Amino acid sequence: MENSREILRKYFGYDSFREGQETLVESILQGKDTLGIMPTGAGKSICYQVPALAMEGITLVISPLISLMKDQVFSLNQAGIHAAYLNSSLTAGQYRTALNRAKEGRYKIIYVAPERLESAEFLDFACQTEISMVTVDEAHCISQWGQDFRPSYLKIVEFVKKLPKRPILSAFTATATKEVKEDIVCVLGLREPTVLVTGFDRKNLYFEVQSPKDKEKFVLNYLQEHSEESGIIYCLTRKLVDELYDKLTEWDFPVAKYHAGMSDEDRRKNQEDFIYDFKPIMIATNAFGMGIDKSNVRYVIHYNMPKNMESYYQEAGRAGRDGEPSRCILLYEPRDVVLNQFLIQRGNEREELSREEQEGLRERDEARLRKMTYYCLTNECLRDYILRYFGEYGGNYCGNCKNCLTQFENVDVTDIAKKLLGCIEKSGERYGMTAVIDAVHGANTAKIRQYRLNENPFYATLADVPLYKLRQVIHYLLLNGYLIQTNDEYAIIKLTEKSADITQNGANAIMKMAKETERGERKGKKKKALIGGLSPQGELLFQKLRALRMEIAKEEHVPPYVVFSDKTLVQMCLLFPKSREELLNVSGVGEFKLEKYGERFLEEIRRMENAVQD
Ligand code: ADP
Ligand code: ZN
Repeated sequence: MENSREILRKYFGYDSFREGQETLVESILQGKDTLGIMPTGAGKSICYQVPALAMEGITLVISPLISLMKDQVFSLNQAGIHAAYLNSSLTAGQYRTALNRAKEGRYKIIYVAPERLESAEFLDFACQTEISMVTVDEAHCISQWGQDFRPSYLKIVEFVKKLPKRPILSAFTATATKEVKEDIVCVLGLREPTVLVTGFDRKNLYFEVQSPKDKEKFVLNYLQEHSEESGIIYCLTRKLVDELYDKLTEWDFPVAKYHAGMSDEDRRKNQEDFIYDFKPIMIATNAFGMGIDKSNVRYVIHYNMPKNMESYYQEAGRAGRDGEPSRCILLYEPRDVVLNQFLIQRGNEREELSREEQEGLRERDEARLRKMTYYCLTNECLRDYILRYFGEYGGNYCGNCKNCLTQFENVDVTDIAKKLLGCIEKSGERYGMTAVIDAVHGANTAKIRQYRLNENPFYATLADVPLYKLRQVIHYLLLNGYLIQTNDEYAIIKLTEKSADITQNGANAIMKMAKETERGERKGKKKKALIGGLSPQGELLFQKLRALRMEIAKEEHVPPYVVFSDKTLVQMCLLFPKSREELLNVSGVGEFKLEKYGERFLEEIRRMENAVQD
């Protein structure tokens, strides 16, 4: 049996395990059931692939998504590991061939769709073969608590029971809530499993929230400045996807799009164009992304605020899976709240649910939406906010988010706060944020007159303060517990015990507000995230190696990052390896890939050096 570190080096080209990986690998190798909960990009696949190679027999990986299986199998084959997938994308003939090869013991790792487990043919194969481990990927799909419950996952348990010898069970997911975790252990029937939850912090991701006046222009500028990079832009609706797609196509950007309103064929084509980097920019609704393993996504822009933090972190987390610096930017506008409320309302009108159940779900979703909104409004560390949301301890300065890097000044907003609180009190705590702001600002609308807010003693007392600032102050009061919002459909704003601190007890409301930064100053500092550390020569080499990688990818019909990741190319451009040994030292270059591509890459590097010396 090869040692797990040797396997990691030889096949995957990595020198060391990342946090948590070794524990999980060793647990499996000791024959224990194992559950790994790790955020996207942490490297879950390695945790079962390495032991799969170290053990006798075959490992079956149950995976819900065809695209994900395909991608994984490509990558494994590229690394010289025999793997295959069995799912509905194969024709009957292809399926039979694959199964026959599996029977001959040609594959070490086989990816299977859960539906297949029932088929007599497959069961027959499984019973005649030594299955050392069954790995359940995206294991949260077994939980009815989660958003992605898949009934077909329940078949896994039946399947395992039918095997002559119980294999080791391992399960992996990025969903960490307590309910889901318990469901996985319980429903899958894990026996005294090793459970490991690694931190949810993704240090290489930079977080930012912006409210640009013109979002389209913001995106155009961003893409222009990052034209070398691949990224995803998420919109809340299909219509917005279509519009932005048309706009960016007009500007000649290489964009693909994806939403549930497109035909299967179009979606498949667009997804592939993106994965293969033919069109490195993807514009999509949240229908896109599950099972996308593309490691070189350098940015994820949310054109709209998503409905909750879970969705946001999952989608934003598709950036930077290779561990390189990547950016997650959310473009917030107050309208997004209303749009989301509409979607929540519609989403919960499900016939199979009773009135009360619908109401309960709506309340839960509204509360989550509110937490999401606060994320967009806070001036504190964004990473800290995210980690605390997921129940981790954040530390309140990360140095790698917009808020940590922005210069703030403390502004005394006590007077504004007093008037806002006063207006709310005098109107009987019966109205929402917009009505209150309109009232103190002195709006003369039908609604204001209908609510008789124009008779409120604080009516128009803040007419000279801009609306955006009034909104900021209300947010400050909400975030700091001077106000709360109810869970009703029309979130009403109410006072709290703390409100009196400001209205009566002489406390000051001091708020952090961003200093207006000079634009020119920031622009100059901006660096291209990944290749920023390279010399001019290194950058040139990077372009050449990328072209070579694309050439190979086309020859072999695989996505470029399956050949080598960006990170691996960058390392080559830093080290300029001259020999096979030196190339093997580059992270991501294993023995198999060295054999297969080493010469061609060395050749390109040598050519570059000769050109420099000439
Ligand atoms: P997950 O499934 O947890 O989202 P992946 O298994 O797709 O993450 O891994 C994310 C990326 O990290 C991949 O590009 C993978 O090759 C890389 N990776 C995983 N483990 C290591 C390691 N020990 N050293 C370096 N890179 C790693
Ligand atoms: Zn921060």
